[in-house]
Amino acid sequence: MTDTVFGKIIRGEIPSHKVYEDEHVLAFLDINPLSRGHMLVVPKEPAETLDQLSDAAAAAVGRVLPRLCRAVIAATGVRHYNVLQNNGAPAHQAVPHVHFHIIPKPTSREGLGIGWPLTTLEGQDGANLAQAIAAATR
Ligand code: AMP
Repeated sequence: MTDTVFGKIIRGEIPSHKVYEDEHVLAFLDINPLSRGHMLVVPKEPAETLDQLSDAAAAAVGRVLPRLCRAVIAATGVRHYNVLQNNGAPAHQAVPHVHFHIIPKPTSREGLGIGWPLTTLEGQDGANLAQAIAAATR
């Protein structure tokens, strides 16, 4: 995996506004926030995308995410938020090191805006697809 700006932040080579750190996870404020309190939660394990992350690192992130969401609510007073996690450049991932955004949604204009190009799930295709995904998780 190529070194990234998040690797440098984890190693303390460049500064960040750190809000949480443990053995496996670092969280810090996003340098270009979509809203006040926008932060990034980063596993220290150097995986590029979520599918490449180990179960142990994923568990460490999952354990602290709700606590960090509560902390952002408490610090900003904003009750609503999005948790966003991009994988791959076509999916808007700019930094190829797994990270979760926590983005407060104070107003309809601030925070994350989402395009949601919905389609319809057809019955047989849905059944086949669910079966294929279920088989691949084993
Ligand atoms: P993504 O598009 O999901 O890869 O998001 C990458 C995020 O990292 C963006 O929101 C950037 O603003 C943020 N970012 C990039 N460099 C830094 C940095 N040095 N410190 C804090 N956040 C950063």
